[in-house]
Amino acid sequence: AEEVGGGDKEVVREYFNNTGFQRWKKIYGETENVNRVQLDIRIGHSKTVENVIQMLIDEGSLEGVTVCDAGCGTGCLSIPLAKQGAIVSASDISAAMVAEAEKQAREELLTSKDELSPAPAMPKFEVKDLESLDGKYDTVVCLDVLIHYPQNKADAMIAHLASLADNRLILSFAPKTLYYDLLKRVGELFPGPSKATRAYLHAEADVERALRKVGWRIRKKGLITTQFYFSRLIEAVPA
Ligand code: SAM
Repeated sequence: AEEVGGGDKEVVREYFNNTGFQRWKKIYGETENVNRVQLDIRIGHSKTVENVIQMLIDEGSLEGVTVCDAGCGTGCLSIPLAKQGAIVSASDISAAMVAEAEKQAREELLTSKDELSPAPAMPKFEVKDLESLDGKYDTVVCLDVLIHYPQNKADAMIAHLASLADNRLILSFAPKTLYYDLLKRVGELFPGPSKATRAYLHAEADVERALRKVGWRIRKKGLITTQFYFSRLIEAVPA
């Protein structure tokens, strides 16, 4: 597919229901049929998930805490959150992703390995783009989704996610640093069919400004980097 500009939602939806679904399901999975770059991204992304869980439980138990996982993909975060006792609402623009997340959640959550402890509650899965999410959650998390938003759309997206959260918002995004910018331009990070969607990098200052505009501030930060995976992780709270 040709690269299509503008962060077009339809293009993103189509991609994550087809080639993008196949590609990312593989990267986020556990099978061995991944290349060196994909394996590196898998490792980086799983570090991001670990960091998020740690950031969350550092503030206290997740038992009974409502969490919205916006753009949940195959459920890499939703499933461990449910294991921690969180009440998870997981959604994604891609029906294929949501179906896969639900399948994996059933496999991992409903078959309790430990007879003594009760099985965790299944997340509630929905096919929804994050602009149409509503309701209120203690915590809203949105990992590695901002890459599909140009900065002029990112502000509204961040404002909307913040409006759904009572206490905290966790976001991760590809940071716009010179090095990463360069790698991206060289095209090394998005080889082959994955070029089907555009990738947008974000300057931390821009994300911070978007949060400040709606009365939020950054409380914690993390940076996860491997050779081909770069993710700035932030936890924001009402200022
Ligand atoms: N958050 C998941 C994770 O970290 O495992 C998945 C990350 S994946 C790189 C990006 C996901 O964002 C895809 O599943 C895609 O379908 C979803 N996505 C992209 N644009 C979206 C939108 N506007 N609303 C909801 N989901 C979106």
